[in-house]
Amino acid sequence: MTDAVIKSQFPAPGQQNARRVAQAVERVSRVFEQRKLRFTKLRQQVYEEIVGVHTSIGAYDILERLAVKGTRLAPISVYRAIDALMDAGVIHRLESKNAFFACRRPEHGFEKGKRPLVLACEKCGSVAEVDSGDIFETIGKMAAAADFTPRVKFVEVSGLCPRCVGDNDQN
Ligand SMILES: [Zn+2]
Ligand SMILES: [Zn+2]
Repeated sequence: MTDAVIKSQFPAPGQQNARRVAQAVERVSRVFEQRKLRFTKLRQQVYEEIVGVHTSIGAYDILERLAVKGTRLAPISVYRAIDALMDAGVIHRLESKNAFFACRRPEHGFEKGKRPLVLACEKCGSVAEVDSGDIFETIGKMAAAADFTPRVKFVEVSGLCPRCVGDNDQN
Protein backbone atom coordinates (compact mmCIF):
# COMPACT_ATOMS: atom_id res chain seq x y z
CA MET A 1 0.00 0.00 0.00
CA THR A 2 1.22 3.45 -0.79
CA ASP A 3 1.60 6.21 1.78
CA ALA A 4 -1.15 8.15 0.05
CA VAL A 5 -3.64 5.39 0.76
CA ILE A 6 -2.52 5.11 4.38
CA LYS A 7 -2.83 8.85 4.79
CA SER A 8 -6.31 9.08 3.33
CA GLN A 9 -7.87 6.24 5.31
CA PHE A 10 -6.05 5.81 8.63
CA PRO A 11 -4.87 8.81 10.63
CA ALA A 12 -1.15 8.95 11.34
CA PRO A 13 -0.18 7.34 14.64
CA GLY A 14 0.43 9.28 17.83
CA GLN A 15 -0.74 12.69 18.90
CA GLN A 16 -2.24 14.47 15.92
CA ASN A 17 -0.70 17.60 14.50
CA ALA A 18 -1.98 20.74 16.29
CA ARG A 19 -2.84 22.51 13.04
CA ARG A 20 -4.97 19.56 11.90
CA VAL A 21 -6.74 19.46 15.26
CA ALA A 22 -7.46 23.20 14.97
CA GLN A 23 -8.83 22.70 11.45
CA ALA A 24 -11.06 19.86 12.65
CA VAL A 25 -12.33 22.01 15.53
CA GLU A 26 -13.10 24.80 13.08
CA ARG A 27 -15.04 22.42 10.82
CA VAL A 28 -16.97 20.96 13.76
CA SER A 29 -17.90 24.38 15.08
CA ARG A 30 -19.48 25.08 11.68
CA VAL A 31 -21.41 21.78 11.83
CA PHE A 32 -22.80 22.79 15.22
CA GLU A 33 -23.67 26.23 13.92
CA GLN A 34 -25.48 24.81 10.89
CA ARG A 35 -27.50 22.53 13.12
CA LYS A 36 -28.24 25.38 15.52
CA LEU A 37 -26.46 23.59 18.35
CA ARG A 38 -24.05 25.12 20.81
CA PHE A 39 -20.40 24.16 20.51
CA THR A 40 -19.65 24.85 24.17
CA LYS A 41 -16.14 25.07 25.57
CA LEU A 42 -16.58 21.67 27.21
CA ARG A 43 -17.78 20.08 23.97
CA GLN A 44 -14.78 21.56 22.21
CA GLN A 45 -12.36 20.29 24.88
CA VAL A 46 -13.80 16.79 24.69
CA TYR A 47 -13.72 16.85 20.88
CA GLU A 48 -10.07 17.99 20.91
CA GLU A 49 -9.13 14.97 23.02
CA ILE A 50 -10.95 12.61 20.66
CA VAL A 51 -9.64 14.09 17.42
CA GLY A 52 -6.18 14.49 18.96
CA VAL A 53 -5.48 10.75 18.94
CA HIS A 54 -5.44 8.35 15.99
CA THR A 55 -7.14 5.61 17.98
CA SER A 56 -10.51 5.43 19.65
CA ILE A 57 -10.60 6.75 23.21
CA GLY A 58 -12.84 5.89 26.16
CA ALA A 59 -14.74 8.39 28.28
CA TYR A 60 -12.52 7.83 31.32
CA ASP A 61 -9.37 8.41 29.29
CA ILE A 62 -10.86 11.68 28.10
CA LEU A 63 -11.67 12.58 31.70
CA GLU A 64 -8.11 11.80 32.78
CA ARG A 65 -6.50 13.74 29.94
CA LEU A 66 -8.61 16.79 30.74
CA ALA A 67 -7.78 16.48 34.45
CA VAL A 68 -4.05 16.46 33.61
CA LYS A 69 -4.65 19.72 31.74
CA GLY A 70 -6.37 21.19 34.79
CA THR A 71 -10.02 20.65 33.82
CA ARG A 72 -11.61 18.41 36.42
CA LEU A 73 -15.05 17.23 35.43
CA ALA A 74 -17.72 14.85 36.61
CA PRO A 75 -18.04 11.80 34.34
CA ILE A 76 -21.64 12.78 33.54
CA SER A 77 -20.43 16.08 32.05
CA VAL A 78 -18.07 14.24 29.74
CA TYR A 79 -20.80 11.76 28.77
CA ARG A 80 -23.16 14.61 27.94
CA ALA A 81 -20.53 16.29 25.77
CA ILE A 82 -19.88 12.95 24.03
CA ASP A 83 -23.62 12.53 23.39
CA ALA A 84 -23.83 16.00 21.86
CA LEU A 85 -20.82 15.28 19.63
CA MET A 86 -22.31 11.95 18.54
CA ASP A 87 -25.67 13.56 17.80
CA ALA A 88 -23.89 16.09 15.62
CA GLY A 89 -22.20 13.18 13.80
CA VAL A 90 -18.68 14.48 14.37
CA ILE A 91 -17.62 11.50 16.47
CA HIS A 92 -18.75 7.87 16.44
CA ARG A 93 -18.72 5.10 19.01
CA LEU A 94 -16.54 2.07 18.42
CA GLU A 95 -19.07 -0.35 19.83
CA SER A 96 -16.68 -3.25 20.37
CA LYS A 97 -14.54 -1.11 22.69
CA ASN A 98 -17.12 1.35 24.00
CA ALA A 99 -14.75 4.08 22.90
CA PHE A 100 -15.08 7.06 20.60
CA PHE A 101 -13.33 8.24 17.48
CA ALA A 102 -13.50 11.38 15.39
CA CYS A 103 -15.35 11.17 12.09
CA ARG A 104 -12.84 11.91 9.37
CA ARG A 105 -15.27 11.39 6.51
CA PRO A 106 -18.00 13.94 7.19
CA GLU A 107 -19.26 13.49 3.64
CA HIS A 108 -20.82 10.14 4.56
CA GLY A 109 -23.63 12.14 6.13
CA PHE A 110 -26.60 10.67 7.90
CA GLU A 111 -28.60 9.36 4.99
CA LYS A 112 -29.65 5.76 4.79
CA GLY A 113 -27.30 3.61 2.78
CA LYS A 114 -24.37 5.89 3.37
CA ARG A 115 -23.33 4.46 6.68
CA PRO A 116 -19.65 3.64 6.60
CA LEU A 117 -17.98 0.40 7.48
CA VAL A 118 -15.66 0.82 10.46
CA LEU A 119 -12.19 -0.73 10.27
CA ALA A 120 -10.32 -0.94 13.58
CA CYS A 121 -6.68 -1.98 13.81
CA GLU A 122 -6.19 -4.42 16.66
CA LYS A 123 -2.48 -3.63 16.89
CA CYS A 124 -2.20 0.18 16.91
CA GLY A 125 -5.85 1.02 17.57
CA SER A 126 -6.20 3.17 14.47
CA VAL A 127 -9.75 3.51 13.15
CA ALA A 128 -10.96 4.29 9.63
CA GLU A 129 -14.33 4.55 7.93
CA VAL A 130 -14.80 3.23 4.43
CA ASP A 131 -17.76 2.83 2.08
CA SER A 132 -19.99 -0.02 3.12
CA GLY A 133 -21.29 -0.89 -0.34
CA ASP A 134 -24.52 -2.83 0.12
CA ILE A 135 -23.56 -4.55 3.37
CA PHE A 136 -26.37 -2.95 5.34
CA GLU A 137 -28.88 -3.87 2.66
CA THR A 138 -27.67 -7.46 2.71
CA ILE A 139 -27.96 -7.62 6.50
CA GLY A 140 -31.49 -6.28 6.22
CA LYS A 141 -32.45 -8.93 3.67
CA MET A 142 -30.89 -11.81 5.59
CA ALA A 143 -32.53 -10.69 8.82
CA ALA A 144 -35.90 -10.24 7.12
CA ALA A 145 -35.63 -13.80 5.82
CA ALA A 146 -35.49 -14.90 9.46
CA ASP A 147 -38.49 -12.67 10.32
CA PHE A 148 -36.10 -10.57 12.32
CA THR A 149 -36.37 -6.80 12.48
CA PRO A 150 -32.83 -5.48 12.42
CA ARG A 151 -31.76 -2.24 13.97
CA VAL A 152 -28.21 -2.33 12.66
CA LYS A 153 -26.36 0.89 13.08
CA PHE A 154 -22.80 -0.20 12.58
CA VAL A 155 -20.55 -2.88 11.19
CA GLU A 156 -17.05 -3.07 12.61
CA VAL A 157 -14.18 -5.13 11.29
CA SER A 158 -11.04 -5.63 13.35
CA GLY A 159 -7.73 -6.46 11.76
CA LEU A 160 -4.49 -4.80 10.77
CA CYS A 161 -4.11 -1.34 9.26
CA PRO A 162 -1.68 -0.86 6.34
CA ARG A 163 1.07 0.36 8.69
CA CYS A 164 0.81 -2.60 11.01
CA VAL A 165 0.68 -5.06 8.13
CA GLY A 166 3.92 -3.46 6.94
CA ASP A 167 5.45 -3.90 10.41
CA ASN A 168 4.58 -7.57 10.38
CA ASP A 169 6.28 -8.01 7.00
CA GLN A 170 9.55 -6.78 8.49
CA ASN A 171 9.43 -9.19 11.42
ZN1 LIG B 1 -17.94 9.22 10.14
ZN1 LIG C 1 -2.40 -0.45 12.96
